[in-house]
Formats: sequence, structure tokens, C-alpha cells
Amino acid sequence: MGILCKLGIHQWDGCKCSRCGKTRDKRHSWDGCLCTRCGKTRDEGHSWDGCLCTRCRKTREEGHSWDGCTCVRCGKWRDENHIWIGCKCARCWRTRDEGHSWNACKCTGCGKERHIWELTETYTMDELPEGIQGCLENMCFIEEHVYDKYKCSRCGETMEKRRE
Ligand SMILES: [Zn+2]
Ligand SMILES: [Zn+2]
Ligand SMILES: [Zn+2]
Ligand SMILES: [Zn+2]
Ligand SMILES: [Zn+2]
Ligand SMILES: [Zn+2]
Ligand SMILES: [Zn+2]
Repeated sequence: MGILCKLGIHQWDGCKCSRCGKTRDKRHSWDGCLCTRCGKTRDEGHSWDGCLCTRCRKTREEGHSWDGCTCVRCGKWRDENHIWIGCKCARCWRTRDEGHSWNACKCTGCGKERHIWELTETYTMDELPEGIQGCLENMCFIEEHVYDKYKCSRCGETMEKRRE
């Protein structure tokens, strides 16, 4: 650093001192949104390529290049048009509750778990235990049916199912 620069007397060439390289926020050499001399950017004169300014990398809400849920140009995400492969979106972290790849009780795609129902008992309506007489699975029964009782071997939850 020259002695004059140390004293605060810079050799300004626009926004930059040609001796020490110090910059100031004055007399920039704007080329669109970018100062070609010091690299400062401003929010005008962008060179838009779709949603992205090719000079300063600023993005805008127009002209996205959507590939499903993700803009391939700026990386913006939207919660629509996911590209589902089974239960998972190929472009983002989103999962859905269909298309699971069950490996016994666990989905290998998203990690979701399901009950593993195992038949434990079969009984007719007459034999239904106290407390569950009446309606089962929103179905009121008048006739005599056979009911199967299941228990999940993973978590122990139970359910009854009518067998025609
Ligand atoms: Zn200087
Ligand atoms: Zn500048
Ligand atoms: Zn720009
Ligand atoms: Zn975009
Ligand atoms: Zn997605
Ligand atoms: Zn899954
Ligand atoms: Zn379970």
C-alpha cells in the first residue's frame, strides 16, 4: 500500500483505487446489474435467462424451467407435478401414501411401517365378545356372519373383519 493510500488519498479509477485496490460505492462501471470493475451488483439491468440472471445469479418468479417439481435452472421447488417412483419423488424428498415397496412391515422406499395382521380367532356374531356388539367397520350387522380377529405381530394392535 502506497503512502498516499495510507493517508487516505487514493487514486480513484471509478469505484476502485488503482494503487491499493480499495473500492468505494461511487462511480461504478455498470454493465447491466454488475460492476465490471469491483464486482458489486445492483438490482436492475439483469440479464435474465428465464428465471435466472446469468450475471449475478439472482432469480425471479418468472420463466422457471420446471422439471416436475423442481426448476432445473434455479433449483426452486413447488409442491406439485412430482415425479413419482413408487412412493417417492425422484426430484425431491416428498413421499406419498401409495406405491410403497413393502418388505414385510416396512417400505424400503420411504420407511413407512404397516401392521402385519395375523389371524388369531374366528367367531360368529353370536360369539362376539362383550363390548364390540353392534357396529364393526361402520357396518351394522343384522345377519349372522363369521368374524375374524386379527392381531398385528409388530405392535400388538387388534382388529376384527367380517368374512362373508
Ligand atoms: Zn488506494
Ligand atoms: Zn464498482
Ligand atoms: Zn443480475
Ligand atoms: Zn427457476
Ligand atoms: Zn418432487
Ligand atoms: Zn413408501
Ligand atoms: Zn402394528
